Amino acid sequence: MRRAGQIVREVLELVRSRVKPGATTLDLEKAAEARLTELGVKAAFKGYHGFPCVLCTSVNSEVVHGIPSANRVLKEGDIVSVDFGVVVDGYYGDAAITVPVGQKIDPDTARLLAVTEASLNAGIAAIRPGATLGDVGAAVQGVVEAEGFSVVRDFVGHGIGVHMHEDPQVPNFGEAGRGMKLRKGMVIAIEPMVNAGKPDVRVMSDGWTAVATDGSMSAHFEHTVAVTATGATILTE
Ligand code: MG
Repeated sequence: MRRAGQIVREVLELVRSRVKPGATTLDLEKAAEARLTELGVKAAFKGYHGFPCVLCTSVNSEVVHGIPSANRVLKEGDIVSVDFGVVVDGYYGDAAITVPVGQKIDPDTARLLAVTEASLNAGIAAIRPGATLGDVGAAVQGVVEAEGFSVVRDFVGHGIGVHMHEDPQVPNFGEAGRGMKLRKGMVIAIEPMVNAGKPDVRVMSDGWTAVATDGSMSAHFEHTVAVTATGATILTE
């Protein structure tokens, strides 16, 4: 799973380097797909329940599951969330980043990205054998809500291994002490989706793209994380 995670990271960093004003989300898709072909590695998302691409690219108020398109031109001040997974020798890796486009990012939007990533790190910091999924969710939620942002409830993280999505569900909200206890050897994908405004989302007419109902900016960061004897190790770092 670490091998899968390292390929996920390499491709996400490649995609990050291609994010600039004037690039389309299909340009990002093509860069990722070309690298996968070079590596001889299979993408996890393409074909998953019919999803058409190797990347999910979600711009501005799009929360998750946006479909790369030649018509979606990135412009200065946008943000684009890139979610990506692979399968290597039967094992999955899954991660996401949200990247600002250009240099002129709105300060509140920059804060949204920083807080979302910090909430992911807080969730990871809560992982150890004996901790509960409620501990993880509460850690994420606490960081987000202290900054006045909202945790999306309609989508959650997940167990991951020989399938991309395995039990248990890993909510980005919860109560400390509640829920399933983590054990050494479990691997989960933690993926806070955070809206600047209200948490509500709706799915657009393409059947995939989830967007913040109030049109506010939305960010998404994700790591695949293994529970170790003493804490956690990030497999997609
Ligand atoms: Mg995931």
